[in-house]
Formats: sequence, structure tokens, C-alpha cells
Amino acid sequence: MSAFRLTNLTRQIEIGANCYLLETAGRRIILDCGGHPKLEGRDALPRLDLLKDQPLDAIILTHAHQDHLGSMPVLMRSFPNTPVYLTEATLQLADVMLHNSVNVMMKRKEAGQSDYPLFTHRDATVCTKRFLPIPLKQKFTPEGERVAPGETVDVAIQFLDAGHILGSVSVLIEAAGERFLYTGDVNFKNQSLMLGAQLPEGKIDTVLIESTRGATPEPVGFSRDEEELRFITAIQDVFAQGGSVLIPVFALGKTQEFLTMIHKFRRKGLFPECPIYIGGLSTKLTEIHDRLASSSTRQHPGLDLLESVAPFTISGRELNQFAIKPGRIYALSSGMMTENTLSNVIGNQFIPNPAHGIFFVGYADPQSPAGRLRAAKQGDSIMLAAASEPETLRCRVEVFGFSAHGSRESFVEYLHKTAPSKIVFVHGDLPAVEWLTDTMRSLLPQTELFCAESGIPLDL
Ligand SMILES: [Zn+2]
Repeated sequence: MSAFRLTNLTRQIEIGANCYLLETAGRRIILDCGGHPKLEGRDALPRLDLLKDQPLDAIILTHAHQDHLGSMPVLMRSFPNTPVYLTEATLQLADVMLHNSVNVMMKRKEAGQSDYPLFTHRDATVCTKRFLPIPLKQKFTPEGERVAPGETVDVAIQFLDAGHILGSVSVLIEAAGERFLYTGDVNFKNQSLMLGAQLPEGKIDTVLIESTRGATPEPVGFSRDEEELRFITAIQDVFAQGGSVLIPVFALGKTQEFLTMIHKFRRKGLFPECPIYIGGLSTKLTEIHDRLASSSTRQHPGLDLLESVAPFTISGRELNQFAIKPGRIYALSSGMMTENTLSNVIGNQFIPNPAHGIFFVGYADPQSPAGRLRAAKQGDSIMLAAASEPETLRCRVEVFGFSAHGSRESFVEYLHKTAPSKIVFVHGDLPAVEWLTDTMRSLLPQTELFCAESGIPLDL
């Protein structure tokens, strides 16, 4: 009999609304419950219908990005007595993210999306009151009991630092004499602010691993330090031409990594004082990073980003009269320049001006406005939103390698070293999953490899 049964509740093989049902030792545990980044309304939910009416014993949230958190209130409404475990940092970030989601859904409702809101501010408040924070490395049971060293229990759960964003964890579950690791979103190397993941190196039977960057090789000789220098130099080049720089960023994670980079280079005297603008959501999330600056695992302990870098906050209400001034950095969400976001609306003013730069610092879906802009050539006509005028691309467009997800090479190295009996690939597009599967098949011929198809239980 298998120790674990896993059902992928994400709708397809993709980076979608991440959600997994893990059954082990008579317990049913949900790992993450996200909202799809590209879909709207009820289509953005994971396949919660497959949970039917059977009770759940525990819900685990690995981190506060929307594609892991966004549908949590809908799930929690159906299971009002199931405990939800996460870290203290994720609790604080999730509170802000969920209320922001309600605001976004209310605006989409006004624009005609009749499914919205999928949950209300009241639901979000009830959710965060039910969240139960657990410290890193503390073993606990699905019922929330602390497991003492040496104590034997049916199911022991443990959070390990995943190095992806503030509060992010991988989850180690020990049951039926086996060890199961869900990586969540993971990064093995240090970023500018976050420290690299601290995953177990001992025997692991099954690894459920994300595949985000599986189709993208890391450039030979890549070094984060050199990439940071290339980035800072490119910004200064744009300033020297009398332009400004737009950096489309995720409000959570990438904004704070960017602010840390600016802090580092200013402290070394390598970057001038200049006005930096971030969005309102980014400011709220940066406040949480600052509040936890001495109590969370990260680099630069104690560094207060809002005080040190002193960015200005732009709100959506100011956009109508917004005029770009030279020598400024606009680090605005969303990272993929999704329609109706700050980076999308302001991006239109940057595109036709050769003095300006639009610099990307993370993943963008090829179909997103950011993905289309990244693929365009100088002189191409670009339309960032259905309602906007086409603009001719004349500004400088650059892509920098600051992903918060580990490189595929680092994943291969970790998996090769740990040599699990079974590996399940999720959270990646098909080419990414295929590359990782082919590579691991040749390196670990004894290991069983799975691609978790939507809704089909895997006995592991
Ligand atoms: Zn994430």
C-alpha cells in the first residue's frame, strides 16, 4: 500500500491556481489554495468540487503569493472547522493580500465580471483570524499539537525556509514510515534580501517540486552580484540620457528585493539619490518586511527599507494626471503589466520615448502584456491594453535575471543529491516539466517520475 495519495486540484499542467490534496495515514491535508493569475471569476478557482463533502484535517499555506493564497477564503468557507497552518510572516502578508484581492474583485465587478467578489472583506478578516502560525523547524501534527523530539505520531509536519519570499516555506511531512517534501515555490540561492532555502538533505521518499524555470537554462557563468551591477549601471545610463525607468514588479517579494538592491548600492556610494516610486500595496507589504526585519530569516537584519530608501507611494487615483519626470524610478506592479494595473497604465507613456527604459526583473507569461513587450523589437507597434492606443516601441527594454524561483540547474543538483524514490513535477508549463523529467530520468534511472495531471489521484 502506498504511503501517500496526491491529487492535483490545479486545473491544468501550468502555473495556475495551485492546490493539492494529500492523503496519508487517514488524514486529508490541503497544500495551498491559489487563484489563477490569468483567469477571472470562478474559472480562477482550483477544482474544489473534487473535495466533495469529505472532511479535511488540515490546510497548509506555503506563502502569500496569489497563485498559492488567492482562493483560500473560498475553501475555508466550505471547511469552517479545519485548521490552517502557515508562518507568522505569511499570516501578516496574507491579511493585506486578501483584502487587496477583494478591492480588485469589486473593481472587476463594476467592469461587468458578475462572479465577483468570490469573497468579501468580512470573509478575509474571518480567514486571517483562523490562521495558526507555526515557527520554522517546529514539528506539529495535523491537529496542531507540537511534536516533541523523539515522539512518535501518525503524521508530523514541519516548515522549512524555502528562500522564495518573506515567510515562504517548504513542507516536510512524515507519515507511514516515509518522508514527503512539498517544496512550494523555492529558491536555493541568496537573493538581495532573502536567504537561500534550507531544505533537508537526508533521505526523502517523495518530492513534490515546482518547475517554474524548467524550460529556461541559466546563462553560463551567471552571478547575481554581476547582474545587480549590470542593472544599476543600466538605470544610470537611462538617467544620463534624460530618461526615467519603469520596473514592472510583483508587489510582494520583488519590490522589496529591488529596494534592498538600491539600499546596497547607495550605501557603497555607487548609486545616486533619486526619487523612487512604488504602489500603495507595495508600501503596505514593505511595512510588514520592515516590522519583521529583526525577527525573520533574511539578509540585512534590522534594515528598514521604507526609512532607508524612502520611496514615494503612487496611488491609482493619481494616474489620470500622471506625468513622468526625468531621473526617476517607477517600480510598479504588476510584474506582468496586467491590464488595469499601475505598470500597464504608465507603461504606455514609456514605450514611444527613446530616452526611457522598461526593465524587467522576473518571470512574465509570454501571453501577458509584459511577455509581448519583451518579445517585441524596436519599431514594432505595441498595445498594452485593449482600450489603449497602439504605441511604437522606441524605449530601451531589458530583462534582468532576478527570479525568486531557483534555476533548473539548482533543482537538478538538489534532486540528484537527495535521490528520492519518487518525484512529482508541478507548477510549471509542459515544456518545463518535460525538461526536468527527461533530465532526472537520465540522472536517477531508479526514481519514479510523475507529472501530476489535474484531478487524477497518484498513489505514491
Ligand atoms: Zn510564489
